[in-house]
Amino acid sequence: MKIPNIIIAIDGHSSTGKSSFAKIIAGRFGLIYVDTGALYRGVTLFAIRNFFIDKNNKIDRISLEKALSKLDLQFRPTGQDRASQLYMNDELVENEIRSLEVSEKVSFIASLPIVRDYVDTILVKLGEKRGVVMDGRDIGTVVFPDAELKIFMTADAEVRAARRYNEMKAKGENPQFEDVLRNVKERDFLDENRDTAPLKRAPDAILLDNSKMTIEDQIVWFDNIISKRWN
Ligand code: C5P
Repeated sequence: MKIPNIIIAIDGHSSTGKSSFAKIIAGRFGLIYVDTGALYRGVTLFAIRNFFIDKNNKIDRISLEKALSKLDLQFRPTGQDRASQLYMNDELVENEIRSLEVSEKVSFIASLPIVRDYVDTILVKLGEKRGVVMDGRDIGTVVFPDAELKIFMTADAEVRAARRYNEMKAKGENPQFEDVLRNVKERDFLDENRDTAPLKRAPDAILLDNSKMTIEDQIVWFDNIISKRWN
């Protein structure tokens, strides 16, 4: 099935499987996948390494703001499938940005308007020719409010934490389930309650609660929507 050259915005809670879902859609319809959370994670890793955020999540905003002009975040294709990886000033940081330390700090960094402006500039450029699937928290509400298709993904917090926990285990990490659950809930709270671009469902976003759905179920659900709209 062919669809027009559109923007698909996929927003939603943490660890709902947005990126796996978005990647499959991108592959199916020949669109470019953009993981917007990776950019917030990249800025967070940069802030941690430069001591702009401390162990109590207190942020030295002035130094971070000054240093952002020296931060170059780029997605580069891996050459396999349609995947890409994040580079921070030419260093591959795909693994580092997924650590629990970054996950615990990213929502604090992402709440800063200066950081959101920095990331939005990159996103607007990536989407200027359309033909993209972007997943994040504010894509359908703030970054591309004119996206042709918006999906809002959610699932029970316990289900999401269990998925994230299993992913981390599979990578050889040894997290405590309670820590992962706490992180998922804390990020939801911070993302929904920040002043700038809070996480919320756009009025025209279609709700996908995948608590009891496999990824295959979700793709069937998506194909249904696409064929209703564009067939
Ligand atoms: O999608 P992911 O969980 O990797 O995103 C990490 C964090 O980045 C989120 O918890 C959120 O705080 C922030 N984020 C955001 N806006 C986006 C994407 C991510 O605030 N568009």
